[in-house]
Amino acid sequence: RKLGIALVGLGYYSTNLLAPALQQTQNCRLAGIVTGTPSKAEEWMKKYNIPKENVYDYKTFDRIADNKDIDVVYVVLPNSMHEEYVVRAAQAGKHVICEKPMAITPKACQNMIDACKKANKQLAIGYRLHYEPFTKEVMRLGQEKVFGAVKFVESSDGFRSGDPNQWRLKKSMAGGGPLMDVGIYAIQGARYVTGEEPISVTAQFAPKTDPVKFKDVEETMFWQFEFPSGAVSNSTTSYASGVERLYASCEKGWFELSPAFGYGPLKGRTSKGPIEMPVVNHQAAHMDGVCKDLLDGKQLPDHVTGAEGLRDVTLLQAIYQAAETGKKLKLKA
Ligand code: NAD
Repeated sequence: RKLGIALVGLGYYSTNLLAPALQQTQNCRLAGIVTGTPSKAEEWMKKYNIPKENVYDYKTFDRIADNKDIDVVYVVLPNSMHEEYVVRAAQAGKHVICEKPMAITPKACQNMIDACKKANKQLAIGYRLHYEPFTKEVMRLGQEKVFGAVKFVESSDGFRSGDPNQWRLKKSMAGGGPLMDVGIYAIQGARYVTGEEPISVTAQFAPKTDPVKFKDVEETMFWQFEFPSGAVSNSTTSYASGVERLYASCEKGWFELSPAFGYGPLKGRTSKGPIEMPVVNHQAAHMDGVCKDLLDGKQLPDHVTGAEGLRDVTLLQAIYQAAETGKKLKLKA
């Protein structure tokens, strides 16, 4: 059996990545859509053969509770809207996948976790890289100390953002700038390569080169973590220019991914030679992985759930606080 997924929000990621990936998945299929745009509804119904009964708008969304075709609701909306739709999906009795960042505050993340727990439904975050072979390999290299203990990590993700009117540049919708959007990958990279949680953070905002476009959010910023083992990390995130690299220097060698966080193919090498791994569709691997556990009635691994989303959003907030105060912030383990 394939689980039926309903995508909520038919923007860039749903249209260009998730819907095409759902044509390749083994454990799930595109069963429904939730959109506020009637012309998109028509287009998607035709293109993906979606029956009218499985098409909702934001007002009728809660009626999804009565739809047996839909097992999983996948929330792909602007960051500030994740909380409301995850809670409503849980209340409708559906499992939920929510895009990253899970929400814009830790409190919202906790509400989402609580709502899913109360409904006895599972909550996964769109952490596609946790199902991606090159990423899994660098997790192994770092966490199993294949090149000895990790001493320092350079982990950065940024791109040149376009449209000055997009929601990503509005703090109320995005929660912040590039840190919220792609910086979260750099945080994850440092965490999954060391297999540790940071114990302190320092951070800095770079000067804005376009203060009009970036009046509401940061344009570029930097942060540093210390980990319990003594490992340290340094990261950059930016909407001004591109960077995408995860590098770990270890006692007896090094390894890196570059590109490290995009849709692939990722590329990796170590001090002993190239990393060879199968190239997969990230979105298909992620949705199939999540749905396999749901079909088998298994608990999802902690590192792809709301608990992990909350850890990252807590760190996002700590990084902003450290940059605003200019002080080193101690973090709770
Ligand atoms: P997008 O702007 O292209 O799409 C957002 C959708 O939300 C649009 O269809 C828009 O119509 C709809 N929407 C509904 N109400 C809205 C409102 N009040 N204001 C603005 N839009 C509204 O964005 P996207 O790039 O598809 O990103 C959506 C989510 O997916 C974000 O949380 C983003 O971080 C995440 N994302 C994740 C990945 C990944 O690799 N995992 C990649 C891209 C985006």
